[in-house]
Formats: sequence, structure tokens, C-alpha cells
Amino acid sequence: MTDEGSDTTESRCGCKLGRVSERYDLTDLHDTLISYWTGDADEQRSTRELATYVNQRVLETALTNADIPPREGAVKNTYRLLTSDDVTSGTRVQTRNELQRDGVPVEQVESDFVSHQTVYNHLTKCLDTAIGTPSDEEQLERSTEKLGALQNRTAVVTSDTVERLERKEILEIGAFNVNVSVTVTCEDCYQEYTIRELLDQRSCNC
Ligand SMILES: [Zn+2]
Ligand SMILES: [Zn+2]
Repeated sequence: MTDEGSDTTESRCGCKLGRVSERYDLTDLHDTLISYWTGDADEQRSTRELATYVNQRVLETALTNADIPPREGAVKNTYRLLTSDDVTSGTRVQTRNELQRDGVPVEQVESDFVSHQTVYNHLTKCLDTAIGTPSDEEQLERSTEKLGALQNRTAVVTSDTVERLERKEILEIGAFNVNVSVTVTCEDCYQEYTIRELLDQRSCNC
């Protein structure tokens, strides 16, 4: 599921994290976040840890872009100097100044840092991932929404098609109404249900 999602969401996602990943060309970021978050990778990480991960990747790219090949541990350390609560403001200012002098657009980089809330929203809304398996109710709700949207879409395409053919005088009809209904028939008892009824009822009467 996650694999299908990421290709398409990557170009479509307009949230801060989506924009930042494009600006720094972090193409693998979405998949990496999903696998870290769901624990597919090694162990599951919190959105706070993931925000730090994203921000360090941003910083690393900014350093590389400024022709400062980040040495081992340098990214983590610089990130700490820029963001940690236990760094004095003097040290922070000095770190910023040094980066600025080396050609790193510090202000831009800092404003591109994301919060854990942004990571959470990106994962749940943009990438549609959820930790663990959704409950039966959630799955039913999602399926109902999905099928409802599909039926609406079919109705819209159908009326557009009829209207278009009518305009070209290929087809003739008065004012019309399009109705889409999908039914499911139980082969054991031949009882027929609309998909809506079946999802509500969750089992056949037989
Ligand atoms: Zn997003
Ligand atoms: Zn039945």
C-alpha cells in the first residue's frame, strides 16, 4: 500500500514537508519516512525523531550545496548547535555566522526545518499511512467513502457524456437524471444488496 502511494503523492503533496523535499531534492524521503514510521525499516521512530531526521537531511544538503562536504558527525553537531535548548544563544549566533560566511543560507535553512506536527500531518494526510491496522469500523468507513466517490464519479462522467452527445445531436433525451447503483448478489441465496446495504449490514441473511 505504501509503495503505490508514494509515487503519486510525491509530486502532488503541497504541504511544507512536500515543498521542502522538492527544494532539497530529497526524492527518497517519503518512502524512508513511511518505513521508519511504520517500523518496516528497523525499529519504529516517533514523529519527533523523524522531524530531526528530515531537518538533518535538509542541513546536510544545504552544506553540500555550499561545497562544504559534511564530515562524519558534523551535520548532527551543527543541527544541535542550531536547535538544541542547551546551547547558549552566543554559541548559536556564532554557528549561524560561520555558516553564513561559508555560503550557507542559514535563515532559509532554518525556516525549512519542519516540526513533528508537520511530519505527522504529512504521513497521515498526504501519504495516508497509519500505524498498525485500522479498525474494522475505520476500514468500513474508508471503503464506503471510496465507493461513494467512485459512484459519484461514474454519475458525473455519465451525465457529461450524455450531455455532450446530445449537444452534437447524436443522441436525444429530455431533462435527465443519472443514477448509479452497484449491487452485490449472494450466490448462496440469491439475495441482492446494494453495496451500501451490504456494508451497513456486514453479512448476508442466509
Ligand atoms: Zn505532505
Ligand atoms: Zn446469502
